[in-house]
Parts: sequence; structure tokens; C-alpha cells
Amino acid sequence: MVVLSNLLPPSLITSIDALRQLRQQWQQEGLSVALVPTMGNLHQGHLALVEQAQRHADRVIVSIFVNPRQFGQHEDFDRYPRTLANDQVALTTVGADAIFAPDVHDIYPDQVTKADEVTQNFSIVPPARLTDTLCGMKRPGHFAGVATIVLKLFNLVQPQLAVFGQKDYQQLTILRTMVADLNLPITLLAAPTARASDGLALSSRNQYLTDAQRSLAPMLYWVMNQISEQLHLNHSPQALIAHYTQHLLDHGFDQVEYIAIRDPITLAELEKVDSVSYVILVAAHLGNTRLIDNLVVEASRLA
Ligand code: AMP
Repeated sequence: MVVLSNLLPPSLITSIDALRQLRQQWQQEGLSVALVPTMGNLHQGHLALVEQAQRHADRVIVSIFVNPRQFGQHEDFDRYPRTLANDQVALTTVGADAIFAPDVHDIYPDQVTKADEVTQNFSIVPPARLTDTLCGMKRPGHFAGVATIVLKLFNLVQPQLAVFGQKDYQQLTILRTMVADLNLPITLLAAPTARASDGLALSSRNQYLTDAQRSLAPMLYWVMNQISEQLHLNHSPQALIAHYTQHLLDHGFDQVEYIAIRDPITLAELEKVDSVSYVILVAAHLGNTRLIDNLVVEASRLA
């Protein structure tokens, strides 16, 4: 059991002024700072990001902000779980230094828009080659919303380092590209996907699942592993995708948005997968709940 009484809770910062003060203090003390951006409702996957950040920086700040700009008008923004008190306890157990949980009107003072609404404000528009594919097909404006909030958080927190989960692989690719293309002076680290013991990737959205849906959900991980194994037996990627899409539907998934096998750096489609690293990505629905997952297969494992 973790003894909380020995650990100081992270400072809870809700205003931009207070954040700037803390940041200035750390700067004067010569401390390096890592940022872990989240939408809260923290689970072990998020906490592993914090622990990874702690290994690389003197101070770790976790932002908790449910960002309206990355949700479509008909998505789950209103019902997204907001659990700040529990998150504070969880972050105390891992020893995070600060939580930045701003009010939406401080982040978007002029106008609060959703991902698929026209915004009058500046925003970061990632290249179409990275957004007009995979999750971006069904979520117009989502990645512009993600890139915009992450750049705003980078400017507010001014970290030397930021940690993101491989669980959101397209997001990670887009943010890496943003950092490179815009010469941001920040190192991005990727954390491996944290999974439940049955393979399901941890996600705040898993709690929307009914018991029956929850028992089906690990099939996504199983399917990706099957595809990876059978690719190595020279089955065609297209045939495997078609077969396992149908398998998910036959077993009770309500919709399979995509199963894709892509280049792990560019997300470009791959003709052949026998000698290169690749990533298998999947998005599928159980009822109203949309689940995503991915599996990176390194070239070294293909030999
Ligand atoms: P979220 O709060 O869901 O927006 O996620 C915040 C950060 O945690 C993102 O960088 C996610 O990729 C990462 N994350 C979410 N779930 C997991 C997981 N199961 N394993 C590793 N990282 C995760």
C-alpha cells in the first residue's frame, strides 16, 4: 500500500499568472522541466508517462485540460470524465510536482469552438498527409485542435521535454512533426502503451463500456497480434485487413472504422511489410464508444 502521508501533493495551479510565477522560480533555480499533457481521469498509462518524465527532468508538471477544440460537436466532450480530486491523489502517489488545470476561458478567452466549427482564432493546421487519414477521416479538425492546445501548453509551460503516449500513435506522429517543422526547442519522448492484463489498452473511455463490451474489447489487441504474425507468414496485408475487420464485426463490434498497416514514421501506406518496421493501427466502435489501438513492429523483430 502506498503511504500518502509522506508525499507532498503537487501544487494545483489554475491560473496562467500562477503558472508563469512557478515557471520563473524553477528557471531561477536552474531546474529542468518536463510537461505531461493530459485530459485528466488519470490511469496507470498516464502515471507511467509522469514516471518517464521524472527520469529526464528535475520537475514534472501535468496539465489537465479537456480541450473542446479537439472534440467534434457530436462527440463526448460533455460526458468526458472529469475527476480532478482523484487525479490529485494519483499524482501525489507518483510525486508529480505540479498540476496545471486551467479554466477553458483562460485558454480560449475570445471564443470556445469545437473541432468541426470555424474558429476565428489562430490555430495550428498539421499537414493534410498526416490528418486526412486514419482517425482524421472521421474527426475533422481534431488534430488541428490537438496541435493547437499542445503548442499553447508548450508556450505556457516552456518545458525542455514533453512525454506523450504511443497509444495515440497518429497524435504522436503529428506532434513530432510539429516540433521538427516548427523548430520547437523541446524534446518529445514516447511512452509505450499501458495495457490491462487482458491486453486492452488503458483509456479513460473504457469506462463507457458495458460489461459485455468490456469483455469483447481486448479482441482489438488480439487482432493486431494475429495480423502481425500472419504478415510474417506472407499473407497479403489487404486480405488480412479484410478478414479481421469481418472477424471483429462478427464477434460484436458495431463498426470498424479502419484497420491499417503503415510506415511508423510517415504513416504512409505500405505495399510490402516484409523487411521494414511498420505499425498496425485500428479504430473500432463498441456501441457509442470509439476505441483506438496500435502495435508497432520493429524491423529488428522481423529478422
Ligand atoms: P489523454 O488524457 O487520453 O488525452 O492522454 C494523455 C496522454 O496520455 C497522451 O499522451 C496519451 O497518448 C497518453 N496515454 C493515454 N492512454 C495511454 C496508455 N494506455 N498508455 C500510454 N499512454 C497513454
